[in-house]
Amino acid sequence: MKIGVLALQGAVREHSNAIRACGAEPVEVRYPEQFAEVAGLIIPGGESTTVGKLLIRYQMLEPLAKLGGAGFPIFGTCTGLILLAREIIGSDQPRLGLMDITVNRNAFGRQIASFEADLPVTEIGPPDFHTIFIRAPFITAAGPGVQVLARLDEKILMARQGNLLAAAFHPELTGDLRIHQYFLKLCRK
Ligand code: GLN
Repeated sequence: MKIGVLALQGAVREHSNAIRACGAEPVEVRYPEQFAEVAGLIIPGGESTTVGKLLIRYQMLEPLAKLGGAGFPIFGTCTGLILLAREIIGSDQPRLGLMDITVNRNAFGRQIASFEADLPVTEIGPPDFHTIFIRAPFITAAGPGVQVLARLDEKILMARQGNLLAAAFHPELTGDLRIHQYFLKLCRK
């Protein structure tokens, strides 16, 4: 199975390595024509306003939004989560807008803009996940069609809406493959 990793900016190689370690074939995606070759797409961490603008420049934003709305699996980490959100607090930046979630960017503030935590992810199960946050967003509100998979107090840190998966942290940096394996299951459906 081929899985795309959006390769416009950010942690591309780390996601490709994780996909390969799961036994699938990573494909670095830079053109809209490549969507047809892959069973799903990962949008890595980076800087969301930049990636949004690049998606427009390379004529990928609209086709990807259409595909995602029609059941194509997309997994957004950090910047990817922001781009999947319908609402981004205080920003009109370009986005896919596919998930019924409201996102607060750079939400953990300066002091703890980057930190690590051990989190349970319901659905994928124990043991807890060691999670790494890098100037991370969190989800402040989620609609009824959204399944919350992880949270810290009132902050939602991982969620799924059918074929769409979003995490505020970086599962590609820990060597724990369970979250990538979970996404690959969605891609096999
Ligand atoms: N702060 C970044 C943004 O708003 C996201 C950070 C990340 O992807 N690690 O795009």
